[in-house]
Amino acid sequence: MKYNSTRSKKTVVTASQAIAQGISEEGGLFVPQELPKYSLEELSLLAAADYRGRAKKIMGDYLSDFTADEISESVDAAYTAEKFGSDNPCPISYIESGDKKMSLLELWHGPTSAFKDMALQILPHLLTKSMKKTAGDKKAVILVATSGDTGKAALEGFKDVDGTSIMVFYPVDGVSPMQKRQMATQKGENVSVVAIKGNFDDAQTGVKKIFTNTEIKKKLADNNMLFSSANSINWGRLLPQIVYYFSAYCDMVNEGKINLGDKINVAVPTGNFGNILAAFYAMNMGLPVAKFICASNSNNVLTDFIRTGTYDRKRHFYTTISPSMDILVSSNLERLLYHLTDGNDERVAGFMKALSEEGSYTVDADIKAKLEKYFWGGCCDDENTVKTISELYKNENYLADTHTAVAVNVYDQYAAETGDLTPTLIASTASPYKFAKAVLGAVTDEALPEDEFAMVDALSAKTGTPVPAPLASLKELKERFDTSCEVEEMPGVVLGSLGIV
Ligand SMILES: *Cc1c(COP(=O)(O)O)cnc(C)c1O
Repeated sequence: MKYNSTRSKKTVVTASQAIAQGISEEGGLFVPQELPKYSLEELSLLAAADYRGRAKKIMGDYLSDFTADEISESVDAAYTAEKFGSDNPCPISYIESGDKKMSLLELWHGPTSAFKDMALQILPHLLTKSMKKTAGDKKAVILVATSGDTGKAALEGFKDVDGTSIMVFYPVDGVSPMQKRQMATQKGENVSVVAIKGNFDDAQTGVKKIFTNTEIKKKLADNNMLFSSANSINWGRLLPQIVYYFSAYCDMVNEGKINLGDKINVAVPTGNFGNILAAFYAMNMGLPVAKFICASNSNNVLTDFIRTGTYDRKRHFYTTISPSMDILVSSNLERLLYHLTDGNDERVAGFMKALSEEGSYTVDADIKAKLEKYFWGGCCDDENTVKTISELYKNENYLADTHTAVAVNVYDQYAAETGDLTPTLIASTASPYKFAKAVLGAVTDEALPEDEFAMVDALSAKTGTPVPAPLASLKELKERFDTSCEVEEMPGVVLGSLGIV
């Protein structure tokens, strides 16, 4: 299977090139030329396999220049019971509330307690193998812009991986105290972490600019290095996410919640549009999905886009209690536009040019019609997020984090507005303990302790739920990284840390 760039069909690369490079030369994202299609018979074969078996089949169909052994090795190393707590890395919690059937797909049982682990535990394996195939012995320099969770998950995935070096940039005031502490205490000889004076979009734009700066790229090449990306623009991030939608559907069938072939809805708390896009790929491969419910916080640029067809990033940026969704430029939407235009690279390039030059674009009626057919968009502010956490806990005895609560709230809005009671898979994307302040505040009337770890302990005492071990252990670790820089200084910081100024 080959891959094109969303902005140029003339660009044709293999899977390993797409993963090693991360982003195409002209700034486009890599997309598969065609999708594998699974019949119901094939779905039932997947249902008979375990998570790792499902992952090997699905990833094997996309990574056609990997050997079966290379895929097995990567999958077996990534999804271990040791790292994810059980052989099924993402169990489902079922909630029936009135006529509503919600299946919360818990994607946060990995080492950093957020769903990013599902992709970032396997990406280093895919990336180092891709580098060997395409770039010989060059060292991969991974640059990451993070709104909090990607950074830690990428650091944890790449720490001390031979032939790689990783740098993470996060917005200085845009991540939770726990997220900051997770990154500041990161272990590993090949890692560095820098706060930038700006928001997530500034960090992401800064990283993209470095990736496409020919002068900097040449400096790296002269030193036998190559940039790569661990952000969800990398195909190697998206592909592992497709797997868990198939796996969840299989689990729902095996656990008697639906019959094979029944349609489900999928609701996803959305930021960069990677997670929900993976579900869209799954549907196009044969997974029976009726509707995608795209949930945003107060940064509701996607809600407006789905409802009006106009994407407009020129708006107020809110810092919310669901920081991993504080994003106004959702990178992966570009891939959706490519597929909704049946692969019209010129139209996609036009939209992206308008977005970067004018800050907005409007899609034509044909695209808008398709968008509405598959997607429903809604948003939820902080106040309602807290209310949702509180009600879920009181009524269903389920403790949700702030991001998951946004999805549950928007799903409720969807069900109320449409009356559609199709069983709905809701992506539960982080452990509530990563956002202890907001979650504790939602479930208790008592005054909150000052200290982050005191809040974590109070949350556990109040709810009788365990603190994830990797978060509990942070208390004892020493902070290693405390530098910050201006956005304009990012290129210099990168070269400096690589020692090639
Ligand atoms: C990254 C993240 C999201 C948003 O996912 P996208 O793939 O960027 O849309 C939602 N919730 C949590 C907890 C996250 O870490």
